[in-house]
Amino acid sequence: MTNTDIAVIGAGTAGMTAAIYAKRSGFDVTLFEGYMPGGQIVNTGEIENYPATGKISGFDYSMALLAQTEGTGVSIVRKEALSVARKDGGFEVATAKGEYFAKALIIATGAKNRELGAAGESRLVGKGVSYCATCDGAFYRGRKVAVVGGGNTAAADALELARMCSEVVLIHRRSEFRAQKADIDKLRALPNVKFLLDSVVDEIVGEDSVRAIVVRNVVSGAKSEIAVDGVFVAVGQTPATALFDGLVKRDLSGYIIAGEDCVAADGVFVAGDCRTKKIRQLVTAASDGAVAALAAAEYLSERE
Ligand code: NAP
Repeated sequence: MTNTDIAVIGAGTAGMTAAIYAKRSGFDVTLFEGYMPGGQIVNTGEIENYPATGKISGFDYSMALLAQTEGTGVSIVRKEALSVARKDGGFEVATAKGEYFAKALIIATGAKNRELGAAGESRLVGKGVSYCATCDGAFYRGRKVAVVGGGNTAAADALELARMCSEVVLIHRRSEFRAQKADIDKLRALPNVKFLLDSVVDEIVGEDSVRAIVVRNVVSGAKSEIAVDGVFVAVGQTPATALFDGLVKRDLSGYIIAGEDCVAADGVFVAGDCRTKKIRQLVTAASDGAVAALAAAEYLSERE
C-alpha cells in the first residue's frame, strides 16, 4: 500500500489544476489517470476562449498542463482507479498497479461522450460514425458529413470539419442552439455549412460504412434520407461517476452533487465536469480544481 495525502482521480483540466494547487499547498499528491491526460479537451481542435493562451490546440494545451503538473512533483499514476472506498479514516484507491491510501480524495473524472441512440449507430462506429471530429475529421477531407448536436462541441466540430469537408450538415433537434452565438454566426457565414433544425437522426444507413442518414423533422414529422459519408455525434456527455456510488450523492444524470465549494462528502471533493453545475467550460474546470484542492488542504490541516 502506497500512502499519499491527497488522491486526485482524473487528469483533465480540473484534476491537473487540483493536483498543482494541492501540491503547492504542501501536500503529497497522487494523480490517477487510466487513459490520456488532458480529458475531453484533448480532442478539441482549437481553444480560443481560455484566458491568455490565445489560440491553442486542445492537445498542446493538455500537454502544457501535464508538463506543468509533472514539474510540481505530483506523482502521476498512469493507471485507472478500479475502486475507491473509505478505509481507516481515509480512502483506499485500487489500481491494476497496486493499492494506495489517501487521507483525502478529489474526484475529477469528467464525462464521456453520449450516444445518439439512432438505429445503425453502434454498428457503424469507426465505419463512418465518430464522436471526435479532431481525431477522425481528416478521413473525410473533400467529403460530405453530418454533425449532430446543438452545443459548443457540435459547433466547434462543424467549424473544424467545414475547413476540410465539401459539405457539413449541422443537425439539431431544436431551433435554438446552446452553443456560443459567435460560433453559430461563423457557421452561418460558411457556404459549405447547411443547417437542419428541429430535426433528429432516426437512422444511420450503410452496410460496411455510412452511406446516408434518415432525418425526421420533429415539427412536421416529415422524413428524408440524406447521403453522407460520415456522421459526427456531439450530443453531450455522461459523467464518469459510477465508481463513486456510495461515497457521494449523484443526481439523476449521474453528476456528483456539490456546490461551488466543491465539497461532496467528508474528505471528498469534486471538481470539473462531473460536478453538478451550470457552466462546464475549461475555465470553470480549472476554477473547480483550485477550489477543491484548497478545500482538501484546509480539511487535512484541520485534522492534523
Ligand atoms: P451540451 O452542451 O450538453 O450539448 C449537447 C447538445 O446535444 C444539445 O444541443 C442537446 O440538445 C443535444 N442533444 C442531447 N441529446 C441528444 C439526442 N439524443 N439527440 C439529439 N440531440 C441531442 O454538450 P457539449 O456541446 O458536448 O458541451 C459539453 C460542455 O463542454 C458544455 O458545457 C460546453 O460549453 C463545454 N464545451 C466547451 C468548449 C470550450 O470551452 N471551448 C468546447 C466544447 C464544449 P438540446 O439543446 O435540445 O438539449
